[in-house]
Amino acid sequence: MSRNVKELSPEELCAWLAERGEAGYRARQIARWLYARGAESFAAMSDLPRPLREKLAASFSIPRPQVVRLARAEDRTRKLLLALEDGGRIESVLIPAELGERLTLCISSQVGCGMGCAFCATATLGLARNLRADEIVDQVLEARRELLADAAAGEPQSEITNLVFMGMGEPLHNYDAVVRAIGVLTAEWGLGISPRRITVSTAGLVPQMKRLLEDTRVHLAVSLSATTDAQRRRLMPVDRKYPLETLLAACRELPLPRRRRITFEYVMLAGENDSLEDARRLGKLLRGIPSKVNLIPFNPYPGSRFAPTPRAAIEAFRAALLRQGVHATIRESRGREIQAACGQLAAQVA
Ligand code: SF4
Repeated sequence: MSRNVKELSPEELCAWLAERGEAGYRARQIARWLYARGAESFAAMSDLPRPLREKLAASFSIPRPQVVRLARAEDRTRKLLLALEDGGRIESVLIPAELGERLTLCISSQVGCGMGCAFCATATLGLARNLRADEIVDQVLEARRELLADAAAGEPQSEITNLVFMGMGEPLHNYDAVVRAIGVLTAEWGLGISPRRITVSTAGLVPQMKRLLEDTRVHLAVSLSATTDAQRRRLMPVDRKYPLETLLAACRELPLPRRRRITFEYVMLAGENDSLEDARRLGKLLRGIPSKVNLIPFNPYPGSRFAPTPRAAIEAFRAALLRQGVHATIRESRGREIQAACGQLAAQVA
């Protein structure tokens, strides 16, 4: 079976070309075809000499994941369930902002997840495997194809403006592939997305958080969802390894670029972590950290043991944070009828 050309780094592609007496600049041309233009065959790469296209086609393939299911919500949220070559299934979700031009793509970094967060549908699948960098990038290419197909069908043309690693998996558990994918996503020869428009969300893997901010310029989001270790251990087993004190001390020392803040995500679970006492503790915990809090209404899934916090209580929680000087927002729930929360669709068809 020929090798997937997207698994090669630019350096590897240059070396392959050099071995065949081809100029190194061809690597950049090929990459632009693969990523900027989403070419599906070497024959389509019309500014490459025909003999080179033939050599490429003899050695490499350009496989695509299969779109197994495409679910659309009334609010134009779209969820793609993708099948990988080994049968693994992952999800990506296109989320248009309620107001404005923002169109966010939420992507996966693993097939399933091993972190075991008690409020997450993906956790019920367990971890099957890490995604390769090209499988992470393919999610963006497939979502772009969907948008192009929509435009061809007469819908307004739209482009992905933001990327979040908040789909299936713990991205920092798959560190090397995620950083390599970020390289392709942000490179001028790749997808040319500004790193400021990419957010990597972690359950709190402390050593990799620091590395990520040294190796890339992306935003960091930390899923907190609790204000005491006892509470967090019930919800997020990662707390046993990196308790709140360790996690937040690391956040205070992270090498953040100027005017950057860490986003702390907080899933609101009725009667678990949503009291005004929690809001007061949260404000105290975040003192001294350049931060903002994103309150996430819980999206129930079949078999989950939690209930969503009522809207009025979420607003009161937010107001208590604002009174303490903590910047806090409430994430709007999108795509409820298509089970847009991470892992729900894959769990349904697994
Ligand atoms: S919330 Fe994220 S880290 Fe936790 S189990 Fe779900 S996918 Fe994994």
